[in-house]
Amino acid sequence: MEIKKIAENYKDEIIALRRKLHQYPELSYQESRTAGVIKEYLINLGLFVEDNVGSGGIVAVLEGVSEGPNIGIRADMDALPIGELNEVDYRSNISNSMHACGHDGHMAIVLGTAAIIKELQSSIKGKVTFIFQPAEEHLPQGGAKGMIEARPRYFKELSAILGIHIWPYFESGKIMISEKTMMAAGDVFCIKLLGSGGHGAAPHEATDLVGLTGALINSLNGLTRRMTDVFNPTVISIGQIEGGKGTNIIPSEITLRGTTRYLNPKLKEVLPKEIERVLRSLTEAYNAEYLFEYFYGYPALKNDEKITAYLRECAKEIIGEENILEFNKPSMASEDFAVYLENIPGCYFWLGTYNSSKEIIYPLHHPKFNIDEEILPIGSAIIARTTIELLDKLGGEFF
Ligand SMILES: [Zn+2]
Ligand SMILES: [Zn+2]
Repeated sequence: MEIKKIAENYKDEIIALRRKLHQYPELSYQESRTAGVIKEYLINLGLFVEDNVGSGGIVAVLEGVSEGPNIGIRADMDALPIGELNEVDYRSNISNSMHACGHDGHMAIVLGTAAIIKELQSSIKGKVTFIFQPAEEHLPQGGAKGMIEARPRYFKELSAILGIHIWPYFESGKIMISEKTMMAAGDVFCIKLLGSGGHGAAPHEATDLVGLTGALINSLNGLTRRMTDVFNPTVISIGQIEGGKGTNIIPSEITLRGTTRYLNPKLKEVLPKEIERVLRSLTEAYNAEYLFEYFYGYPALKNDEKITAYLRECAKEIIGEENILEFNKPSMASEDFAVYLENIPGCYFWLGTYNSSKEIIYPLHHPKFNIDEEILPIGSAIIARTTIELLDKLGGEFF
């Protein structure tokens, strides 16, 4: 039977799985209940399942009838510390925790893919490895690295790996994909400013850390525009500031935490040096001291050309050429899937979910983010079709 038709048969089951996972969102590295749902489903399908891989991840292997390549398919499992504002009967049961990045949909799509491929098992030459990783949202220590380090044998064997993200920035049911860099590298940093502290009435007797904080933020904002040319997109954002105890007390310590995003891998070395250069000169000017820590996170996400071409062809069969959008610009968000792509050729694609008629219009990480569930079996069908194609095509090359 045609894969699209099989996927359609699983539509209700895939949607039910998504809703079940949506109701119990778990934050990064706490996905135990979620892992339980995934494990149960995969065991019932008859797959070999190993749980607790890395810090709570799941790997399940579907064996074909003979030797061949091994294709990996990855989904992420974690939710976000956001209180859901959607009025739906499957809304989050956990206060201040929500699947606001669509990872519930990714898990349901990949479980659906497993069910589809299971039906085709008797014709499969090779293996399919299903990877459910914790903590995609946990920059800089995302779950992918821990999975690979805990069980390298699963990953060394892979001939290719596929990943998906549900994307609310274009229309439901369309996809966008590219062999160019699709998503930025992302690191994080922490700056501690240290001074004497003092009375608010006598700033001349204290180190003015609040003034320094303002100057530093302005300088860092300007730095990205002066450090690299405009064709090398770079972002430095401060997301957290902690400091101060009272209106009349000049603080002796202020902490700033932020993130950097960039497409050009060469900036990995340049950015921490430039941030520290600005920090050093400003703290000197304000007669303060500093501590600076910079943590490398996820690399930029770049797909393999050949695997991308296969996925594009397979997606055409499922949704038609008119629904494959021209890649217009990379996202400056970062994605842990890039860690797998450093060692394994693969392809990651965005599946649109914007649907104004259903009020599915909110961005990722928004308390009203939602998924147009019609797209879930489409995601499963595209991944299943591409996997079958890769088993066939890569089999001819490698064996
Ligand atoms: Zn996210
Ligand atoms: Zn996400």
